Amino acid sequence: MNILMVNVPFSGHVNPTLILAQKLVESGHRVSYILTNRWKDRIEEAGATFIPYRNAADYEIVFKNGKPRNFLHALKAWKYVYNTILEVGDKYDLLIYEFFSFTAFSAAQKRNLKTVRLFSTFAVSRENIGSILVSKNKEINLLKNQFLLKAVTGLICGKIPLVTSNILTEITDVTPDLNLVFTIKEFQEDSPSFSDKFHFVGPLIGKRSNGLVIPFQEMEKSIIYVSLGTLQNQNIGFYKNCMEAFGEKSGVSVIMSVGTNTDIAKLGTIPANFYVYPFVPQLEVLKHSALFITHGGMNSVNEGLFYGNALMVIPLDLDQFAVADRVAKMGLGVMLEMDKVTPELLRTQADRIWANAEITENVSIMRELLQFSDGANKAVDLIEQECKLT
Ligand code: UDP
Repeated sequence: MNILMVNVPFSGHVNPTLILAQKLVESGHRVSYILTNRWKDRIEEAGATFIPYRNAADYEIVFKNGKPRNFLHALKAWKYVYNTILEVGDKYDLLIYEFFSFTAFSAAQKRNLKTVRLFSTFAVSRENIGSILVSKNKEINLLKNQFLLKAVTGLICGKIPLVTSNILTEITDVTPDLNLVFTIKEFQEDSPSFSDKFHFVGPLIGKRSNGLVIPFQEMEKSIIYVSLGTLQNQNIGFYKNCMEAFGEKSGVSVIMSVGTNTDIAKLGTIPANFYVYPFVPQLEVLKHSALFITHGGMNSVNEGLFYGNALMVIPLDLDQFAVADRVAKMGLGVMLEMDKVTPELLRTQADRIWANAEITENVSIMRELLQFSDGANKAVDLIEQECKLT
């Protein structure tokens, strides 16, 4: 098959889809992937052909303090997705898009392309979208008002002919025949409420390295990994709290990924048992760590559990609250509020998690379920089956 993939340039939305691209290529399909120049190497490493956003190859969304630096600029991604599919779509048998790139569906219709949709987070429906739009970000909260939702839809989509009246229903109500969700049904709240068009295939986890060599051999037995993901990670106060909580704690080493836009010099004196980096090969780190202090991005949580880490989730925005809630309800760790985090709280919660045999047992069961799910192969099989049917 000649397959076209497309996405918006956020690591959380892209990372698992690159594994799918690679698996599709290994299964003998030709894959092209529309994204920005920053992703070119990763796409080519996956064996796919890179196609830059039409007239916007260098487009990026820059975040500052958890928000896009330029809101209007950030909204352009969806037009670039649409326009590029219109330009190249004729040559393909199938379009695979991640749910966040929802303008892809209209473009596919214009080009008579069959579509498969991917969810890098929970599957989204009319019932749960409210819990996924929890945000302190005022622009996101505008979407709760019908008039403003319409206005934002206009700003994002302009003249793009959506199937429904706004960007939220475009996500909740426009459902291709095949929807692949990168978590397991046990983790998705109320998974039976989704139709048989949805398949909870599990996380897509593959090899990823950025060349950084981390000296695991010199670390203590218990490793804590701290990361607030790739977007909302400029939080010096939080990192200092972690250093105060676990600095010099006996038997513990801490690896902290603080993001490429955080000035590490501003952290002050770094304790000897801390290893601080702008960006780490997270999968490699999680193989060694036992406790993951995370913002609750779905990828990070999937990856942490896949490698058997208990979780301390401090959600910051959007689906992270729903993910954190699920982690707490399923006894896979604890949820904390960022506003209430102190060194003392971090220390006591870490001790509580380590002393809790039930959490250890639940995490171990979850690890088995996730590792057994074989998400990438299942996704490829379902895509191939679906395309044979039509
Ligand atoms: N990541 C990484 N190294 C880092 C920080 C993050 O490889 O130092 C990866 C991580 O493995 C995950 C993605 O970036 O796949 C972050 O996605 P997530 O959904 O957890 O959070 P987001 O960044 O979208 O908020």
